[in-house]
Amino acid sequence: MFDNLSDKLDKALHVLKGHGQITEVNVAETLKEVRRALLDADVNFKTAKAFTNTVKEKAMGQDVLTSLKPGQLMVKLVKDELTTLMGGETAGIDLSGNPSIILMSGLQGSGKTTFSGKLANYLKNKKTKKPLLVACDVYRPAAIDQLHVVGEQIGVEVFSDKGNQDPVAIATAAIAHAKENGHNVVIVDTAGRLAIDEQMMTEISNIHKAIQPQETLFVVDSMTGQDAVNTAKAFNDVLNFDGVVLTKLDGDTRGGAALSIKSVVDKPIKFIGTGEKMEAVDVFHPSRMADRILGMGDVVSLVERAQEQFDEEEARKLQKKIAKNQFGFDDFLSQIQQIKKMGNMKDLMGMIPGMGKALKGIDIDDDAFKGIEAIIHSMTPDERSNPSVINGSRKKRIAKGSGTSIQEVNQLLKQFDQMSKMMKMMQGGGGRKMMQMMNN
Ligand code: GDP
Repeated sequence: MFDNLSDKLDKALHVLKGHGQITEVNVAETLKEVRRALLDADVNFKTAKAFTNTVKEKAMGQDVLTSLKPGQLMVKLVKDELTTLMGGETAGIDLSGNPSIILMSGLQGSGKTTFSGKLANYLKNKKTKKPLLVACDVYRPAAIDQLHVVGEQIGVEVFSDKGNQDPVAIATAAIAHAKENGHNVVIVDTAGRLAIDEQMMTEISNIHKAIQPQETLFVVDSMTGQDAVNTAKAFNDVLNFDGVVLTKLDGDTRGGAALSIKSVVDKPIKFIGTGEKMEAVDVFHPSRMADRILGMGDVVSLVERAQEQFDEEEARKLQKKIAKNQFGFDDFLSQIQQIKKMGNMKDLMGMIPGMGKALKGIDIDDDAFKGIEAIIHSMTPDERSNPSVINGSRKKRIAKGSGTSIQEVNQLLKQFDQMSKMMKMMQGGGGRKMMQMMNN
């Protein structure tokens, strides 16, 4: 995420390293580079200039902080300013209505339908919410089908009325349906166009007036840079929306949209989309994002993602199996599935402080477990629960079936064996034994 910007800011802030004092000269030099980094990230000129002016003023007024190294102080000032630029505080969504109505707006292809599904899934996982998805795109039957596919995937009901050409009527009927059926959140997905056009604006504005949503979210593709900001302005003029959803932050986006949108429309970014899967969504935290941009990682989000996927009941079952020496490849497979749900590997690794930089230019396969999964899928149920039966000829069969080599099968078996031993020791309170083993 924002690799290029991170890299350039890192270089800019290095200029101050080795200087004992913050002077007007070295601050000016650093800030020139910071401004260049922001412009390269497609931040608009005025915003970039205001940014560096504020940092400069603050830096000059910081004689008191002589105990801090100037480099660190500058990093802190830049971090604080990046946080402010992206909205300062984390902004929640209003779910106070019953049902709470959430309206999606944005251009076609921005990721509205995908995000509608992600949000429904996110809220459903909070247990107290029973969302209803509503398909209001009356022009593209395929869009209605797409929402049904998404709904089925996450187990959320979808309300649609194919053939009905009146989106206001569909949305109104959906809300009545939600009330009758105990849905406490209604997420309305609307039709988008490839570019701003008057008819689309009138239509969404009519839906908005009729259903009076608690939350109107504007969904925008972060890859479109400054265009994203211009589109946001056009939608905000008509809808006065409540928040922004930035999608496709997993792509090669430069960061301009994330950094400029708040200063142009004065509305917070509430969520970000980081992939095509239903789980690839995060609440947007300006301060954590600033940390990530400056290469400081984001351990808090990493732990939160792990907790979201963590199922206590499953964990207890697993513990029992380990204690009884029954941990098999099927359990291993379900562990992999849980890790995969946390997001793509490069994204996860980037949340570890210092790793973002270390991983730069390294290509991490989006599906790093592909080979391992293929091998396990080629095993029989018996082999999965009793790996000791896997002899030479079975290995050959498994390698062939999974399109891997006998070496790879051997490697996995060895790793699995080591892992099982370690888990057993941890269970038995054998921390000491494990230390011994690791020292050997
Ligand atoms: P809509 O026309 O606004 O409803 O957009 P869609 O939800 O159909 O999304 C358009 C395309 O973008 C689809 O191929 C999605 O899979 C993809 N997409 C949506 N959100 C994300 C995201 O956060 N990351 C990535 N990589 N792709 C996304």
